[in-house]
Amino acid sequence: MSKHYDLLAIGGGSGGIATVNRAARYGAKCAVIESGRLGGTCVNVGCVPKKIMWNAATVHHALERAAGYGIQLGEHAFQWPELKQARDAYILRLNQRYGVGLADNRVEVIRGHAVFVDAHTVVVDGEHYTANHIVIATGGRPSAPQIPGAELGITSDGFFDLETQPRRVAVVGAGYIAVEFAGVLNALGSEVSLLLRREHVLDSFDIMLRESLMENMADAGIDILTHCHASALHKENGTLTLSFEQGAPLAGLDCVIWAIGREPHTQPLNLAAAGIATDSRGYVPTDEFQNTTVPHIYAIGDITPRPALTPVAIGAGRRLADRLFGGMSARHLDYNNIPTVVFTHPPIGTVGLTEKQARELHGDEIKIYQTRFVPMVDAFTAHPAKTAMKLITVGVDEKIVGLHVIGDGADEMLQGFAVAIKMGATKRDFDETVAIHPTGAEEFVTMR
Ligand SMILES: Cc1cc2nc3c(=O)[nH]c(=O)nc-3n(C[C@H](O)[C@H](O)[C@H](O)COP(=O)(O)OP(=O)(O)OC[C@H]3O[C@@H](n4cnc5c(N)ncnc54)[C@H](O)[C@@H]3O)c2cc1C
Repeated sequence: MSKHYDLLAIGGGSGGIATVNRAARYGAKCAVIESGRLGGTCVNVGCVPKKIMWNAATVHHALERAAGYGIQLGEHAFQWPELKQARDAYILRLNQRYGVGLADNRVEVIRGHAVFVDAHTVVVDGEHYTANHIVIATGGRPSAPQIPGAELGITSDGFFDLETQPRRVAVVGAGYIAVEFAGVLNALGSEVSLLLRREHVLDSFDIMLRESLMENMADAGIDILTHCHASALHKENGTLTLSFEQGAPLAGLDCVIWAIGREPHTQPLNLAAAGIATDSRGYVPTDEFQNTTVPHIYAIGDITPRPALTPVAIGAGRRLADRLFGGMSARHLDYNNIPTVVFTHPPIGTVGLTEKQARELHGDEIKIYQTRFVPMVDAFTAHPAKTAMKLITVGVDEKIVGLHVIGDGADEMLQGFAVAIKMGATKRDFDETVAIHPTGAEEFVTMR
C-alpha cells in the first residue's frame, strides 16, 4: 500500500520546503522527502554558515579600522572553535524552526532517500509514496577534481566542518564560493593562496567587478596564482603539497579547498524510471513554468540549469504552488534581472547585463557610467578597500540594463536598486532621485 498526496517534494532545502509550505496553505495534502538535514544547502552548508563567517571577517575588518578612528584596542584574538560552536547551534535552531513550520502547515516530513519507481511513485526505505504532482528539488553537491590525492582536500561542505582555523590554505577555484572563502580566511588571519585555472575570478561577472576584486584581494594579502592546473595532492609529515601540470608545487599547506563548481543531485534519483530528461551535465531542464518533460513532474532550484541561488529556488517553488493550487494559472518566476551579491571583502552587488553582454545585444546603443573612489569609512585606514560602480544604459531614453558595484555596503545597497531596474528605471529616474549624503550609494544617482 502506498501513501498518496496532492504534492510530493523531493528535497527539503530552500525550494522544496517553500513549495510544500505554500501549497499546504492552499489546502493541498503535502509531504517533503529529505535525506539529510532540513533546510538543505543554504541553511546547513551554504548561505547561512557562509554569511556568519563573512560577518566574523567583517568584524575583524572593523577592528583594523579602529585605530584610525582613535579607538585603542586591547589584546584580542580570534577563536575559530568558539565561532564554530555558536554557528552550529544557530543552524540547529534553524533546522528545528523548519520542522516546526512544516508541522504547522500540516506537511508530512518523510526521512530518507527518494528514488523514482515510475512517473507517479517514489520509494523511500522500501515505502512507496504516490502523488498527483511531484516537484524535484534535490539541489546539488560540490565537485572535486579527478586527480590523485583529491580526497586529502576538502570542499565547501568540509569547510564548515573545520574544527580549527587552517593556518596555510590553498583555495582552488575562481567562482563565488572560492573568492568568498579566500576573503574570509584571509581576513581572519590565515595565509591564503587562490589558485585560478585562467587569469580572472568570477567568469560571468562584469569586467570592472572582476578586476577590482582581484586588486582588492591582492592588496589585502591574498596570493593569487593564475594558470594553475592541479595534477596531484599529497601529504607528507603532516603537511599537504599541491602539484601542477606545470610549474613548482605549492608545499607546506595544512588545508586545500576545492571550490571548482557544483554538480546536480540527479544520479541516485533514477529519473529514467519516470521518463524525465536531463541535459548533458545532469541538470533537469524545465520550461518557464518549471515543467519537466513529464506532465505533473516539476523541477526547481539548483537541480535545474538556472541561477543557483536560494531566493530563486524559493521564488520558483512558491509560484509553482500558486499555479497548481492557488488558481493562478499564469504564475511563474521571471528569471530576468535577478540581483546577486558576492560576499567578498569588499562585497559585490550586481544586477542585469554585464558591459560585454550589453554590447553584444545592443552594440553602440549602450552608454556606460562609472566611478571609482575610496569610501569615507576607509579614510583613515592604511589599506583602504576601493569602491567601483558602473551603470549600463541603452538607447536614447537610457534605460538601465546593468548595475554593478563592488565596495563597502554593496550587499545592502543592491536590493533597492534591483527593484528600480526591475521596474524599468532610466538614467533620468536615477538623476531625479535625491541623493542620500554622505553614503557610497549616492554615487549611483549622481553619475555624470
Ligand atoms: C558555500 C555556498 C554558499 C552559498 N551562498 C549563497 C548565498 O549567499 N546566497 C544565495 O542565494 N545562495 C547561496 N548558495 C546557493 C544556495 O545554497 C542554493 O542555491 C540553494 O540552497 C538551492 O536550493 P535547492 O532547494 O535547489 O537545493 P538544496 O538547498 O541543496 O536542497 C536540496 C535537498 O535535497 C536533499 N536531497 C537530495 N537528493 C535527495 C533524495 N534523492 N531524496 C531526498 N532528499 C534528497 C538534500 O539533502 C538537500 O537537503 C550557496 C551555496 C553554497 C554551497
